[in-house]
Amino acid sequence: MNYEERCWMKFQIPNHKYQRGVLLRDLTTFHTGGPAKYYIEIDGREELVEAVEWARKNNLSIFVLGGGSDILVSDKGIDGLVIRLVNKDIKFEDERVLAEAGAVWDEVVRQAVERGLQGIECLSAIPGTVGGAPVQNIGAYGQEFKDTFERLVAYDVKQRSFVEMKSGRCKFGYRDSIFKKERGRYILYEVILKLVKGGEPKASYGSLIEYFEKKGIKKPSLVQVRNAVVDIRSQKLEDWNENGNAGSFFKNPEITIEEYEKLKRNFREIPGYVNGSLVKIPAGWLIERAGWKGKRYKSAAVSRKHALILISLGEKGRAQDVKRLAENIIEDINLKYGIRLVPEVGLIGF
Ligand SMILES: Cc1cc2nc3c(=O)[nH]c(=O)nc-3n(C[C@H](O)[C@H](O)[C@H](O)COP(=O)(O)OP(=O)(O)OC[C@H]3O[C@@H](n4cnc5c(N)ncnc54)[C@H](O)[C@@H]3O)c2cc1C
Repeated sequence: MNYEERCWMKFQIPNHKYQRGVLLRDLTTFHTGGPAKYYIEIDGREELVEAVEWARKNNLSIFVLGGGSDILVSDKGIDGLVIRLVNKDIKFEDERVLAEAGAVWDEVVRQAVERGLQGIECLSAIPGTVGGAPVQNIGAYGQEFKDTFERLVAYDVKQRSFVEMKSGRCKFGYRDSIFKKERGRYILYEVILKLVKGGEPKASYGSLIEYFEKKGIKKPSLVQVRNAVVDIRSQKLEDWNENGNAGSFFKNPEITIEEYEKLKRNFREIPGYVNGSLVKIPAGWLIERAGWKGKRYKSAAVSRKHALILISLGEKGRAQDVKRLAENIIEDINLKYGIRLVPEVGLIGF
């Protein structure tokens, strides 16, 4: 057998390493999603390259799964190879943190805060992995992933090589990045952040100011800011262990100042936050005002706690119902306000 034939044999289905029919509902916070045709957990660079080549040889699409906290996977599942990175090392070098893609994001935040490193404290308690964080440039309470990002290492499936990417190449935006725009091209392997030793913790967001005012704390410490974020989140958000969800389902729409002025003529109380030449409108406000809070569609519902969160009810929750509910909301908000909501959550396998 020649080299070509040996390679071909190596990458041919079946291969015991690739599990069949792993149920994605068990690996996502929405608790929905059918089986992955093939599924593998990867811990090293070589294994990753091998899996990508195996998928290529077998004409399978690849989906990289992190903590499954920002996706709605279809009831049919994913007709391809699902790769989950389980490399979890977190290393600190002075003010830098080098975290592997499979590490739990909040563990990075916890350890950084413990070391007095400032810059990601407001991103406490966001579910998911390090690899998922750059994809949507996670943000909360006035901080974003991109603020402390230095560089990352990814496997470029197109170039078939590992590449190092700095901020400019990642094209970070509001819940956006090149990894969303060119979905499937890059498999993020490791992320490097540059934090600030002894930096002043960020507590300038409205709900944090209110929180510390109530407690009579004038200059909160880094640990206090992390604890406050965790506390506020646990009160405000749905617990995905009880009610499957992926946090905010829609992005907050951004419209021009002229469009905002026009809207204000009909809806005087509509809130808006100026961001450069655009105005950001809280999608949750639009949805709540349109009467959707708590509304149900089959096995899906709009959270009673926060109108921006869609939930999947019970063990028999169907992704299709969540998707249909989201479509109904998009249509209704468009009719009422002339604004088209865009999902923040990735719809996979539909
Ligand atoms: C209760 C709750 C609260 C939330 N609050 C917030 C919040 O405050 N702010 C916020 O920004 N988000 C929030 N989210 C959304 C979510 O937690 C984040 O977007 C998180 O970063 C997703 O990471 P993940 O590992 O779960 O990614 P997944 O959901 O598994 O994947 C999301 C996308 O990233 C891709 N991906 C994942 N890992 C990799 C990798 N290694 N290489 C290439 N692509 C990859 C996937 O293919 C997919 O397209 C919340 C979610 C929940 C459930």
